[in-house]
Amino acid sequence: MSELVLVKGKTYVIPGSAMIGVIKTGNNQCVLIDTGLEAAVAKRILKTLDANALTPRAIINTHSHADHCGGNRHIQKVTDAMAYASQFEGAIIINPEIEALYLAGAVPPKPLRSKLIVSEQTLHMTFLEPGKHTIEGAEIELIPLSGHSPGQYGVLTADNALFYGDALVPAYVFEKYKLPFVTDIEATLASIGIIEASGADIFVGAHAGVADDIQALCKANRDGILRGCEIVYELLETPMLRERVLQKLYQAWPSIPISPVGWSTMLTGVSACLYALHKQGRVELVIEDGGMLWRKL
Ligand SMILES: [Zn+2]
Repeated sequence: MSELVLVKGKTYVIPGSAMIGVIKTGNNQCVLIDTGLEAAVAKRILKTLDANALTPRAIINTHSHADHCGGNRHIQKVTDAMAYASQFEGAIIINPEIEALYLAGAVPPKPLRSKLIVSEQTLHMTFLEPGKHTIEGAEIELIPLSGHSPGQYGVLTADNALFYGDALVPAYVFEKYKLPFVTDIEATLASIGIIEASGADIFVGAHAGVADDIQALCKANRDGILRGCEIVYELLETPMLRERVLQKLYQAWPSIPISPVGWSTMLTGVSACLYALHKQGRVELVIEDGGMLWRKL
């Protein structure tokens, strides 16, 4: 049974595999932050809201990953709530095939598709600039937290609660996968600094839960990301394709879950690490023997 759990003031969450934010706005209305993976999750959200005599008037999506926006469509069908996101993420949310295309590099076959990659298409979307907004009576501030996804927003509510999406992940993720899913290492580290300096009273992570002290998790994420880059650097014993780096990672840690979709998302992490190492002047890109190889300097 899903519950509406108080965070602070008028800010609540509905716990689940991805935390859903709820901002009460008066007159039995509310604004949602993210909507979960799919219609089944959206139905659960609406049931919980109904049990609390609440109707969602709007949805704010932190970013375009399916487990954050996949419930939009069902909620919009039932309530006509508008969905809001950054221009970058919103463009993907209303065109979910983009996600499959950028992970697979071309229109993917069935084994490279899943509901975790391609969400149900959102019906209505409005792009929002960073900064302060009033959405259907909810006063919020949108804070760019790029890195995990390029246009990710943190949502700061009027109760000074910061919903940071996937800008931080639970510490066990680094132990299990060795690499984070990030598209930009430098931006991810900068976003961690923004969360630390935000002055928020309470922090809500989609997968990391609710916390009033975020310092330890920020440190775990910073350390995990930097360690991931060092692992990639260490695997680069000879010049090799980035796909070969990932293969060596899986060979070194056979406990890392592997699947076609998992492999393609892990390749994003390897790429982000290689590109960061390139920016640091520690590796170079060479075309050699018919391949685009990465070589230590
Ligand atoms: Zn995500």
